[in-house]
Amino acid sequence: MKVMVPVKRVVDPNAKVRLKPDGSGVDLSNLKMSINPFDEIAVEEAVRLKEKGLVSEIVCVSIGSPRAEETIRSSLALGADRGILVGFEGELEPLAVAKILKAIALEEAPNLIILGKQAIDYDCDQTGQMLAALLGWPQGTFASKVVVEDSAVIVTREVDGGHQTVKLDMPAIVTTDLRLNEPRYAALPAIMQAKKKPVIKKPVDAFGIDTAARLEILKMAEPPARKGGVKVKTTQELVEKLKNEAGVL
Ligand code: AMP
Repeated sequence: MKVMVPVKRVVDPNAKVRLKPDGSGVDLSNLKMSINPFDEIAVEEAVRLKEKGLVSEIVCVSIGSPRAEETIRSSLALGADRGILVGFEGELEPLAVAKILKAIALEEAPNLIILGKQAIDYDCDQTGQMLAALLGWPQGTFASKVVVEDSAVIVTREVDGGHQTVKLDMPAIVTTDLRLNEPRYAALPAIMQAKKKPVIKKPVDAFGIDTAARLEILKMAEPPARKGGVKVKTTQELVEKLKNEAGVL
């Protein structure tokens, strides 16, 4: 069984993000970049399935600048087998990403594609669903548990107020939620080994896909600065403030 894991290079979740002065986007210069945390969970899940003897090959795909190779290498250090880097400068919308991933899926014929539920840069939460629709494959999104059973995958989904369990016939799409697993730290020998694993590079033009943006970002703004808090002396004063000032009671 083959698993494909799309991995995106994003701003490190611990980095402090600044906006460009004209509000047209995020200023990425000198910011630490990392693998999207949900994608790291996706790679970890694929590696765990491989360790159980259920998966024979894990292929990671990243679409982005040449530096996205680092993202692929970090996935290879976690245990993936090989990578595909699709070169593109700039930001692609989820539909274009899903179309490229579809073309690669048709070439690679994986049994399972595990994506992150969302990329933490733009929080779109769309690519997995669009890819499932384009391929006509079943999808189990927001997975907190994945069990492979013969030719099916049983996915426990995090839904409002509880869990939903679905059984998907493979080939299928799964997107990861935070509680699915805790990714391992790559050990130094694994990082060294990852440098030797194959990564093939393809230009985005090779796919003949319309990558034009459908959305125009009008403005991005920082959240308003938080006002300082006040200390109250009594519960009565707290209740009075919640009622009359905050208007939440
Ligand atoms: P999004 O729909 O943008 O929130 O992204 C959801 C998931 O799609 C991510 O967690 C990745 O698994 C995948 N994805 C999105 N953009 C890319 C990209 N440029 N390269 C590889 N995978 C991507």
